Amino acid sequence: MFDTAESTAALVVQSAWKRGLAPDPILTVDDWANRHRMLSSVASAEPGRWSTSRTPYLAEVMASLSATSGFELVVFMAGGQVGKTECGLNWVGYVIHHAPGPMLLVQPTVEGAKRVSKQRVDALIESSPELASRVKDPRSRDSGNTQLMKEFPGGVLIMTGANSAVGLRSMPVRYLFLDEVDGYPGDADGEGDPVALAVQRAATFVNRKVYLCSTPTLKGFSRIEAAYLESDQRVFEVPCDHCGQFSQILWRDIRWPKGKISDAAWHCPACDGIHPEYCKPALLANSRWTAKAEVMARRWVFTCPAYTARG
Ligand SMILES: [Zn+2]
Repeated sequence: MFDTAESTAALVVQSAWKRGLAPDPILTVDDWANRHRMLSSVASAEPGRWSTSRTPYLAEVMASLSATSGFELVVFMAGGQVGKTECGLNWVGYVIHHAPGPMLLVQPTVEGAKRVSKQRVDALIESSPELASRVKDPRSRDSGNTQLMKEFPGGVLIMTGANSAVGLRSMPVRYLFLDEVDGYPGDADGEGDPVALAVQRAATFVNRKVYLCSTPTLKGFSRIEAAYLESDQRVFEVPCDHCGQFSQILWRDIRWPKGKISDAAWHCPACDGIHPEYCKPALLANSRWTAKAEVMARRWVFTCPAYTARG
């Protein structure tokens, strides 16, 4: 016999299931940044609209942070000034606008979190109308917002420091942005490893995403290096103009005539072919990320140390 009540219940469950797991809008973080991210003259040497084409090595990192990607953990190990935090800020904007949910942004210290909030997160929100319209001005009454908390429809962004166990235990989060993890203390207020404490916050979300980035510090004691070694260890490669071989651009292959550092050029490690500075756009345009290791679970994949040769 056909059980109407039960089939209705099944339908309700099915639609809830569909709603809960429905993919977020088909837009990637890099698409979002190209459309909506504005760089202010205060925070950027190149103010104006964000363009991923200027830093093509960041495209895959941002694509992996998108709701359309199956990656759960994204590890980005690279030198300073490469754009690690900018990728994360674009992700923050994307989350507020397109894939809302609770998000935790962790800096090495609470003081650092206040600084990043004031100088970078506020600039991100204020310069993009789509974000400014979703996050209430903290100066307005009942905005619910403070320097370390930004509410928006469907979510909230909490910022804290890895030195605050209280901050790290704040609430369950779907998104976790762990910035400059090599600057984190080994222990948060006597409660253990700050990364482990933060990751526990995301345990209840099946569609969680964690972004870990840092400049590596001491070899063998580096959090980001350890995370990288557990990943599929992607490296950024460019094709040689002369022999076509894809290689990483490493500092040891940058050479210049004695006393003329302005004539520095990259030498292909395979054929010694010379690529002066003017070749860079073409090299980058044809670049790719290549995994150097296999990982057991695909969702735990990911990383990229980067085009770090010249900082
Ligand atoms: Zn070559």
